[in-house]
Amino acid sequence: MKFISTRGGEKVSGANAIVQGLSANGGLFVPEKFPEVTETELNEMLDMNYPERAAKILKKYLDEYDEKGLLSACESAYAKFEGGDPAPLVRLDDGVYMLELFHGPTCAFKDMALTLLPYLLRKGCDIVGIKEEILVLVATSGDTGKAALEGFKDEDGVKIMVFYPSDGVSKMQKLQMCTQEGKNVNVAAVKGNFDDCQNAVKEIFANVEYNKILLEKGVRLSSANSINFGRLAPQIAYYFSAYLDLVSSSQIAMGEQIDFTVPTGNFGNILAAYYAKRMGLPVRRLHCASNSNRILTDFFNTGVYDTNREFIKTTSPSMDILVSSNLERLIFEFSGRDTKLTAARMNELKSTGKYEITAEELASISEIFDGGCSSEEESVEAMYDVFIDTGYTMDTHTGCAMKVAVDWFEANKKDETKMVIVCTASPYKFPQDVLYAVTGNDVKDSFKGIKRLHAATAMAVPKCLQNLKDKPVRFSGSYEKSKLFAEVLNFVK
Ligand SMILES: *Cc1c(COP(=O)(O)O)cnc(C)c1O
Repeated sequence: MKFISTRGGEKVSGANAIVQGLSANGGLFVPEKFPEVTETELNEMLDMNYPERAAKILKKYLDEYDEKGLLSACESAYAKFEGGDPAPLVRLDDGVYMLELFHGPTCAFKDMALTLLPYLLRKGCDIVGIKEEILVLVATSGDTGKAALEGFKDEDGVKIMVFYPSDGVSKMQKLQMCTQEGKNVNVAAVKGNFDDCQNAVKEIFANVEYNKILLEKGVRLSSANSINFGRLAPQIAYYFSAYLDLVSSSQIAMGEQIDFTVPTGNFGNILAAYYAKRMGLPVRRLHCASNSNRILTDFFNTGVYDTNREFIKTTSPSMDILVSSNLERLIFEFSGRDTKLTAARMNELKSTGKYEITAEELASISEIFDGGCSSEEESVEAMYDVFIDTGYTMDTHTGCAMKVAVDWFEANKKDETKMVIVCTASPYKFPQDVLYAVTGNDVKDSFKGIKRLHAATAMAVPKCLQNLKDKPVRFSGSYEKSKLFAEVLNFVK
């Protein structure tokens, strides 16, 4: 299987796509064509456990990786999750299911891919024949950074540096990153919001001079951001697994179509659902859920992607994003895989902050996707209602998805299609906000929030958050965008 750039020009192997992260012209790597999973294969996968299902999906894209290696990598990655099943499906109500993707080492769905990415990257380097040390640069809106740090810490031949917006992440997220252990890790706060942070990292990747300087030092850049295909591929697997779990538990018949609602920021998670559909998974509609930063909602309603708007800080910080990088892969598909048009649109986005797709493209996208959003009050309401009605507690990001799903149910009362809502973080990762939503109580301290949330819900507190309080802070630097590369050089020297 080969991978091509959304902006044309390159055609590379899967290993290359993962090692490189981004194509030379700034485009994103996409599979040359979507591999198929037949109904016979789906039936075979029914009896498999999660790592086996994941390895099977990965092998479809990464055919130059050996099957045994992929399987054992999946086994050790998902052994790091608490509770046995890395992606359990919880039945909430008739036809509504919660796909919990937060039982990994950092309590957010990013772990589903980032526990596996170090293997995919290291093995990719072997396949490609790269000898240099790899420097992984990550821009994070909160959860990716920690998950990448955990995934890569103390890996041989790899260093990792994470950049987060100085005042754009939750206290808990910041503490998780600043206390990170490992001899090959570095964490830096960037003055600005997530988009500033992501742009600064993109600029380092695109800067020929910087790359040359690093290569002379024996260092090659790679990315662990959700634009890396190595992040996307493991995410496709849990959509298959959720579907198979619904069939196994007789909630649906094999072949029956289902819907997913996905809390969305950079468009990586929901794009993986679309890839699963393209591979043959019986998915009917995908509901894209945003918070008050409703740029994607507007895009799905109007076909105009316009970043010229206020950036709003919310209680679902991992969705506080105006430039959803992975959307490029979607508009590439719906343009009829037109690389020139995609490149032109991305240039337009860069120069004017805006682009527009055609009415025909929007009509085809709307056959599968719709976008909804949730204000702060609305997600609190949705979290509260579900907690009171069913006893189920969800985090603030999932709260936005719940609100959007409920809107869909209200508008489509006769629709009997089963709905899976993707749960992206542990409620304990945002303890004060979740406590407020389910009890109305305000506490100032995160750890008090955890204690009270536990008292109110009796949910087990994840180990990784429990012991955070006593860890020393190792990283406290905060940098102007223009100083980031100097800090990178400082780290690799
Ligand atoms: C990253 C993240 C999201 C957004 O996922 P994308 O793939 O960027 O769309 C949503 N919720 C949580 C908790 C996250 O960490």
